[in-house]
Amino acid sequence: MDFRIDAEFQEKLDWMHQFVREEVEPLDLLFPTDGAPYDVKDTKARALLRPLQQQVRARGLWACHLSPSLGGKGYGQLKLALMNELLGRSHWAPTVFGSAAPDTGNAEILAMFGTEEQKARYLQPLLDGEIVSTFSMTEPQAGADPKEFTCKAWRDGEQWVIEGEKWYSSNARYAAFLIVMAVTNPDSPPHERMSMLIVPAETPGITIKRNVAGMNESEEHGIHAHIRYDGVRVPLDSMLGAPGQGFKVAQARLGGGRIHHAMRVVGQCNRALEMMLERAVSRRTQGRLLGDHQFVQGMIADSAIELEQFRLLVLKTAWIIDNEPHGTARMHIGMCKVAMAKVFHDIAQRAVHLHGALGTSRDMPLATMYMGAPMLAVADGPTDVHKVQVAKALLRGAKPAPGPFPTEHIPTRRDAALARYAHLLGEPWRETQK
Ligand SMILES: Cc1cc2nc3c(=O)[nH]c(=O)nc-3n(C[C@H](O)[C@H](O)[C@H](O)COP(=O)(O)OP(=O)(O)OC[C@H]3O[C@@H](n4cnc5c(N)ncnc54)[C@H](O)[C@@H]3O)c2cc1C
Repeated sequence: MDFRIDAEFQEKLDWMHQFVREEVEPLDLLFPTDGAPYDVKDTKARALLRPLQQQVRARGLWACHLSPSLGGKGYGQLKLALMNELLGRSHWAPTVFGSAAPDTGNAEILAMFGTEEQKARYLQPLLDGEIVSTFSMTEPQAGADPKEFTCKAWRDGEQWVIEGEKWYSSNARYAAFLIVMAVTNPDSPPHERMSMLIVPAETPGITIKRNVAGMNESEEHGIHAHIRYDGVRVPLDSMLGAPGQGFKVAQARLGGGRIHHAMRVVGQCNRALEMMLERAVSRRTQGRLLGDHQFVQGMIADSAIELEQFRLLVLKTAWIIDNEPHGTARMHIGMCKVAMAKVFHDIAQRAVHLHGALGTSRDMPLATMYMGAPMLAVADGPTDVHKVQVAKALLRGAKPAPGPFPTEHIPTRRDAALARYAHLLGEPWRETQK
């Protein structure tokens, strides 16, 4: 395995690192709410954002996740992973680099399943960073299991009519359009009942009942919309993919995105570790620096080891996506999703703890980081579901023991070993082993 990065690409990473730290991180301090990067109407924030986006474009680093046919670089997942590690340091960085979720995933499915007209109307302005979008799938009564969704759409002449409720539709308050998953084929097998519909935000019948705030955010800045779709009518050609293909379309937007997200979490963990190290060599207790105490050394070592393991897992997964047949990385993507929430939680918790009262306050970014951990374990499907999928993938390849004892049963194996080498060991030696 070659862990080296070619010099030309390393130069890009170095530029990104410095640019994010010096020019982008200030936006996190000036416009700190969860929704700020998505609020296209905030002219002050946009006045700062646009020149930064221009610099990114000029460097050829805009929306690099896209395929070359859409203006991307075709870097592959491994390089994108290294880039996302740097973007993860800042809440604004993905927007500055044209690669913020959920717009990235929405752009991907528009590119894959959209008609030419849909691409012109929705994809291009999304790629240009002029508008933002929402993925409206989860419902108040069901999330992890889409088979429980009830929001439905039916055909009425030349239109689809949508009726139902969605919940946690992030950024709907800023979105130009929503991609809504609705039951269109109720009598089909469970995975062929749903379809995706593109719905312009201004369509009559859409009501945002409430914008729910995440635990790290104040009520008035909530961005996760509880939406009612009341007889919402869209033209027939608003469907993304064919009727009943909703699951297929939803799956297509998740793979690469999960790796990008995992690497952004590595970036956040790097920051937390840097803060731990600075604190450990700055503050004294009992006549010594914090870093001279073994408990503190343990926290630092555990964090560094867990982070390195996780980082390597994500890079390996990216490598599999780049080099192996499509679908081969599925189990590893699930592993990344599970590990991401656990590693982030543990490192953020230690970093908060090492900073004492300061760590628990809003004066450091650590408390907000720590509050992000439970969300990482739920968004994009709960940890539990991904663990089940990892285990099932392994169990599919497992074979039952040939008899009443396991294959590794020592007495059985020893008998086989003796039988294999009896001609060399001789009978007397064999007798002594009984
Ligand atoms: C920050 C954030 C942003 C989000 N953005 C969006 C968005 O833009 N659009 C959108 O549509 N949705 C969004 N979601 C919703 C997200 O997709 C759901 O929260 C997720 O799929 C889980 O669904 P749920 O919340 O209904 O939990 P539930 O499905 O009710 O699960 C609750 C718990 O039940 C257990 N559980 C569930 N299923 C299983 C199982 N199969 N086996 C064992 N245990 C299980 C787990 O402990 C799980 O945590 C977002 C969520 C978060 C946190």
